[in-house]
Amino acid sequence: MNASLQKLIIASNNPGKLREIQAILAPLAIEAVAQSDFQITETDEPHVTFVENALAKARHASRCSGLPALADDSGICVPALSGAPGVNSARYAGEPKSDERNNQKLIAAMKQETDRRAYYYCTIVLVRRFDDPQPIIVDASWHGEIIDQPIGSGGFGYDPYFFLPTLGKTAAELTSEQKNRISHRGQALAKLSGILQIEKL
Ligand code: IMP
Repeated sequence: MNASLQKLIIASNNPGKLREIQAILAPLAIEAVAQSDFQITETDEPHVTFVENALAKARHASRCSGLPALADDSGICVPALSGAPGVNSARYAGEPKSDERNNQKLIAAMKQETDRRAYYYCTIVLVRRFDDPQPIIVDASWHGEIIDQPIGSGGFGYDPYFFLPTLGKTAAELTSEQKNRISHRGQALAKLSGILQIEKL
């Protein structure tokens, strides 16, 4: 489908994200290899914007592997908490990273809050080489509400607390196919896939 992009590195060690990204790129006949297969370690994410962090991760993976690289930076943003956890979603409750402690902290912060709105946000950056002057950048949001009791066992991270009023379910109750179709990452990857189908990389 894409003339020259046959293999790329995914600059993530998060198994949940890797599964979602590989499933979405498979129909494009692009082999998406985890950076851990190349013994590439995670780089720092020191920036205050999703796009800068995604670019830093993609560049690092491409520099280390010599291959094109794709990175996503994502998180959950809660307007009632001034956008937190935001870019700090993975480490909201500090080190070491823990989904369970992150969820507990979020639920505690939302205890008295009546505005339950939240959205997942995702930026994806693809660099053809580490010094690519024109990275491909796509982004997307997925809106829902925070509930205070977990429901469902699918997905990862904040999914059991992320309720979708239009579906009457949390993200953790969706099948992976359903989540990939509508999630922030799924929507961003669909945009990327559209670009890859018309671009000759
Ligand atoms: P990143 O690896 O720095 O992009 O961190 C992303 C963090 O945001 C994850 O560790 C989760 O805490 C959260 N997150 C992003 N996308 C999702 C999702 O689809 N479900 C649940 N949590 C997510």
